[in-house]
Parts: sequence; structure tokens; C-alpha cells
Amino acid sequence: MLSRHCKKGKCEDENITDSPVWEEEFAFTDNVGIPVCLLCHASLNHHKTSNLKHHYEAKYKNFATNYPHLSDFRRNKLTELKIFIKLTAGSVENF
Ligand SMILES: [Zn+2]
Repeated sequence: MLSRHCKKGKCEDENITDSPVWEEEFAFTDNVGIPVCLLCHASLNHHKTSNLKHHYEAKYKNFATNYPHLSDFRRNKLTELKIFIKLTAGSVENF
């Protein structure tokens, strides 16, 4: 018998889902606990995945086509957008 601590066949990996999956999936980033859209900088009040998903699917169908989910292409683009958001976040008042 295996003597692992896995419960119901689930292992440590499951715990990582604490990190925002919606960053990769719906192009949102976490800004002090508030999800911010990487593409239009809109912030949503709730972390509800359905809200993020709705926003993403309603507005960015083309983005999903141009940057397929889980592709390096998409990952790079999201990283780029995230850096951009971090850079502009400090100067919101001048925006
Ligand atoms: Zn948006």
C-alpha cells in the first residue's frame, strides 16, 4: 500500500489553487485583493469566477483566439500587460 498523505487521491498540487487561476484564464490580475482586468483595467468588486469569466468572454473573444489558453504566447502577453499595470498603478491620479 502507498503510505502517502493524499486524501481521496488528491495530492499537494491541489493546494496551489489558492493562487489566482483567473490570471491565466481570464486575463485578470490581483491588485490588493481586487481583481483587475489586464486588458481594460476595469476592476471588479467580486472574485467570483463567473463574473471574471463573463467579462472576459463578453469582451475578449478575439484575445482568446489570438492568444490561446496555456500558450507561451498568451503567457508572455499577460506578463507584459501585468508589468504595464504595475507601472501605471502608481500614477493613477494623473491618468
Ligand atoms: Zn476588461
